Amino acid sequence: MTAVMETDLQTNRDVIVIGGAVTGASVAWWLTRFAPGLRVSVIERDPTYAKAATALSVASIRSQFSNPVNVEISRFGVKFLREFGAELHLDAGQGDLGLKENGYLFLGGSAEAPGVMAEIAAMHRGLGAQTQVLTPGEVAERWPWMQTGDLTAGSFGPRDEGWFDNMGLLGGFRTAARRAGVEFVKDEAVGLDLTGDRVTGVRLASGAVLGCGVVVNCAGTRAAQVLGWAGVALPVEPRKRTVFVIDAPNARHPDAPLVIDHQGYYMRPEQGGWITATVPQDDGPCDADDFEPDAHLFDEVIWPMLYQRSEGFDAVKVQRLWVGHYDYNTLDQNAVLGAVPGREGLYLACGFSGHGLQQSPAVGRGLAELIVHGGYRSLDLSELGMARVLEGRPFLERAIV
Ligand SMILES: Cc1cc2nc3c(=O)[nH]c(=O)nc-3n(C[C@H](O)[C@H](O)[C@H](O)COP(=O)(O)OP(=O)(O)OC[C@H]3O[C@@H](n4cnc5c(N)ncnc54)[C@H](O)[C@@H]3O)c2cc1C
Repeated sequence: MTAVMETDLQTNRDVIVIGGAVTGASVAWWLTRFAPGLRVSVIERDPTYAKAATALSVASIRSQFSNPVNVEISRFGVKFLREFGAELHLDAGQGDLGLKENGYLFLGGSAEAPGVMAEIAAMHRGLGAQTQVLTPGEVAERWPWMQTGDLTAGSFGPRDEGWFDNMGLLGGFRTAARRAGVEFVKDEAVGLDLTGDRVTGVRLASGAVLGCGVVVNCAGTRAAQVLGWAGVALPVEPRKRTVFVIDAPNARHPDAPLVIDHQGYYMRPEQGGWITATVPQDDGPCDADDFEPDAHLFDEVIWPMLYQRSEGFDAVKVQRLWVGHYDYNTLDQNAVLGAVPGREGLYLACGFSGHGLQQSPAVGRGLAELIVHGGYRSLDLSELGMARVLEGRPFLERAIV
């Protein structure tokens, strides 16, 4: 008997997912795939997703992480993105996520960078990725428009890395989950019902109380609030990131990779122009409803670095800018996944710290395995579990952007 079926007779829903953006929708779809007929409801406070990180993301995927488990999560992710339409039985129009594999290029400037990059690249290659470590001369040869005088090394993933349609991924998961019987409810979860240490239901802003055997917390930047209803603390907070889309008519390099510069910004091509962002110097928690852009960051911080790095950034125009929030895990900048110890039936998937979109296929699959089968079956995600959070034992991810 599975973890789900044990609760089946006492409740009117098997699983309630709080938060219906990419993580919640993926969990819901994978649940129906492993257990057809399971009664799954997804509670989403804003089905426009206007303020969800999923919609405000830069929508890129890379194998280049410092932890093997994150590499494997993304390696599964890119394969899944390629096969998305067929996997979810979507129409051709909805199944193609427009994956553009221009690669990721990390630029290092320290004396240690070549050695660290070589060590991590060897780990990547052991897991099937193609990461290459380049000398500054090789960087200049491959991308002659880049200034490389300050560099000591580059780390480049020539395939399986790039960007894709974030809303297509979310939309596809939602369509396929709905077809499989998942109910999407527009409402806000405002509390959890517990009987002893067992979760038994979710309270909604509308006044409804939905009974269930399992709750999955996929509430993004509000995940700590949701877990707080069960009396458990989570070191996850909203962090503001202002994203700029710019036109630079003298810098047309459509084959450019996503560049992560050691100077402290990233950029990639975006529909004839560029998309770019940095981490603010005064980075810290923000209000989950604060979407006021830090507009000055482009002129004062990013532009001088772009200008120094690449030819053609003498003339630039900011076309659009927006704020998105990372659900930032202050302990170790890694996802927190799985069962909540001491709270039977309660699971979570949050704390992605800027890489949750690409992780959603593997995370949805993993959570569904845990809930339906009682353990991970494909990829073991237990290093990313709550245990290290409760013990204050960081599982650090070094390649955070
Ligand atoms: C600027 C930026 C760039 C990024 N770039 C990348 C990238 O290149 N690659 C990558 O992989 N990741 C990237 N990310 C991270 C990625 O977008 C997120 O990790 C991912 O989208 C998280 O998805 P989620 O579903 O867990 O959370 P969210 O998208 O934040 O969704 C949470 C949902 O829960 C709902 N919710 C919250 N509380 C409640 C409640 N009480 N009741 C009901 N509903 C509730 C919200 O309305 C929301 O829809 C980026 C993020 C940002 C902000």
